[in-house]
Parts: sequence; structure tokens; C-alpha cells
Amino acid sequence: MVHHGTCPICDSGNISHYLRCRDHFLTGEDFNLEKCSSCGFIFTQDHPDEENSGKYYESDKYASHNDNKGISGILYNLSREIMLRKKLRLIRKITGLRTGRLLDIGSGSGHFLSVMKNSGWDTTGIEINEKARKRSVEKFGLKVLEPGLLNALEQESFDCITLWHVLEHFQDPFKYASEIKRLLRPGGICIAAMPNSSSCDALHFGPFWAAYDVPRHLWHFNSDTFIKFSAKAGLKITGIHSLPLDIFYISMLSEKYKASKTHFISGILKGGLFSFRTLFNKYKSSSLVYLLRK
Ligand SMILES: [Zn+2]
Repeated sequence: MVHHGTCPICDSGNISHYLRCRDHFLTGEDFNLEKCSSCGFIFTQDHPDEENSGKYYESDKYASHNDNKGISGILYNLSREIMLRKKLRLIRKITGLRTGRLLDIGSGSGHFLSVMKNSGWDTTGIEINEKARKRSVEKFGLKVLEPGLLNALEQESFDCITLWHVLEHFQDPFKYASEIKRLLRPGGICIAAMPNSSSCDALHFGPFWAAYDVPRHLWHFNSDTFIKFSAKAGLKITGIHSLPLDIFYISMLSEKYKASKTHFISGILKGGLFSFRTLFNKYKSSSLVYLLRK
């Protein structure tokens, strides 16, 4: 177990209990979230260390959600296709490039890298899950490496580095931030998406919020605390966007964790309501996408 005696971002000793959450996804074990009263950062306390975290990922569902059956599976796959296209457009717009060199850290099943590769980008993936790496190579013909090889990549060789919902899983996010700085070309950009612990849905669902996802998610950022993290890591935030479709999936899953028999319908309805609210305040969005430069 990893115990944090001080705040991982600001080193303050003023940390106290925030929420008790259950691993609804896999083990049913309970974990505590703590919050720093100096900087507001929320993190999972007493979480498994690198060596012991494997059992919390022992589900094929985690590597790829595409085994969902029925109407929710169809909607999931449809929303994934929409999001993949949106990500491609976002990267072209932000980098100002039609093609370039892209590194995706936590590339999972490889769907995103495949879209980028087919659009002419020179792509590399980093993925910890061996099955997912193998699938990416066999299904899409991608180049996907294990995380230990990240530091062997040539410095200043990427126009864009993406992390779609992965930074919150890393035992040492500062180590990754320093690798990102090393690997980005001058003028290059890093795009990092993650759940927002100040979102409408996080506040509504409390301990049932699916994006707490303990103990896989170790860090529960909002825009304020991610700005502080980035400053400490030596990266500059140059933009913040919302990811509009995540809210429906997170709301359905959170309703399911609350044992709601109508989780599908109530998840869609609540997702719609929360989406409407975030039209007026993106900082209340379920997930946020940060643009970072060195
Ligand atoms: Zn703090």
C-alpha cells in the first residue's frame, strides 16, 4: 500500500478524509479519498503499489469496453466513433498539422492510434497491458511499446503526445510529465484528458461517481489542481476543453453502481441534464481536456 503523509502536489500536511468509495467495477473493496485543505487536491489514500495493482486490472472489460452487448453496446461503439473523429479534428486544429509524429501514452486497444495512422500520422503507442498491445499490433498493425521503453524514445521527436484518461492511473505522474517534456518537439503539444472531480456528475453521485474508479484512479484532478500539478511539473496549460459524450457513459455507470434498476434510462436523462448545465460552465464538465506545452 502507498500511504501519502502529505499532499502529493503541494506537500502540505493539511490532508483529511473526503469520501469512502467502493471498487464497484471489480473487487468490491473500499478505499478512502483524502483532500488537501491547502490546494484542494483529492487523491486515493493507501492505494496498491505498482507491484500489487495488477489484480485490479484483471478484467478484459478494462482493456476494451467493446464487449458491451445490446443497445448500450451499440451506443457505446457509436459514441466511440464520434469521439475518435472529434479527437482527430481537435489534434489537426491544435497542432495546425495534417500529419506529424504522434505518441499516445496508454493506447489501450489501439482504436484511436489506428484512426490517426490511417489519416497519415506516424504513430507510436505506449501500453502496459500485454493483451491490448498484442491486439493493437495484430488488428491494426500499430507500433505499441511497453512503458519501460518510453525513456528509450528519441528526445524532441513528437509533434503531439496524447493521454486519454490515463494520467490518473500513474503511480508517479511527475515522472511521466518529465518524459513528456523530454519527448515533445519545440512547439509540440501534449493533450491530456481526465475526469473532473468538480463536475456536476461528481458532485451529484458522490461516492458512486464511476470516474472515481478506485483504486485504479489514484489522482482526482479538477481544473484548479491540474493547473497546480502542471506548474510543478514544468508544463504550461494553454487551453482547456470539455469532452461532451463522456457524461452519458459515466452517468449510466454511476446509476448502475447505485443499484438503480433503470440505470440506462436515468443515466441518459441525467447525462442530458448535466450536459445542458456544462454549456454554461465547461469547468463543470465530466471530463476535461488540457492542452500543455513545455
Ligand atoms: Zn495540496
